[in-house]
Amino acid sequence: MKRKIFFTIVVAMSMIAMTACAAATPTSIATTAPNNNSTDQTAPPASVSTATNAAPPTASSTIDTSALACGNGSQSATVTPELTEGPYFTANSPERASLLEDGTVGTKLVITGYVYTTDCQPVANALLDFWQADANGVYDNRGYNFRGHQFTDANGYYQLTTVVPGIYTGRTEHIHVKIQAPNGKLITSQLFFPGVAENDTDRIFDQGLLLAIQESSDGQQAQFNFVVPAP
Ligand code: FE
Repeated sequence: MKRKIFFTIVVAMSMIAMTACAAATPTSIATTAPNNNSTDQTAPPASVSTATNAAPPTASSTIDTSALACGNGSQSATVTPELTEGPYFTANSPERASLLEDGTVGTKLVITGYVYTTDCQPVANALLDFWQADANGVYDNRGYNFRGHQFTDANGYYQLTTVVPGIYTGRTEHIHVKIQAPNGKLITSQLFFPGVAENDTDRIFDQGLLLAIQESSDGQQAQFNFVVPAP
């Protein structure tokens, strides 16, 4: 009899454990293989935001473009601050202006802007190579999910379509980028999001690299102008 009761308890505990594991399984990310091998990647956020969720409080209803480099008729600007590349850059990303793929999860984010020289002349055909974590704060270190490069058009204009990156341990929300005018110096930097609490504790965070963001009908719209040294 004792053995039967013991067996019943073991079976019941096993079922509870299996249920808990199933409940803890994160929402699948169709486009990303979570294969990070870094120690600071081990704690994914608890939830995944979706495009149908309310926009985060970082976004305002009107975009603040006052801080945009070479905006409002400015005739000069300082070079975009350089920040660490970090451990997750992968060379030879595909050329594409949208990092979205079928099944991509997250809050849609469209960033537009220009690449200028320090005397505010637009730079055509400038390289912009973006890479970022997915909405769960996870990098794809085997493939090219959320990685892509593009070139500015004749007006120095670019547009990147992606999702708001998730936060991973030790960092605030950020998007990595390399910028290079034709035959110019390669600048490595990062973009940040206003109103994120982790900005205050992120040692890499730079106020001068904040996106100007507003809510859009299906996510967020942002602007940022890059500045490269005059040739
Ligand atoms: Fe990063």
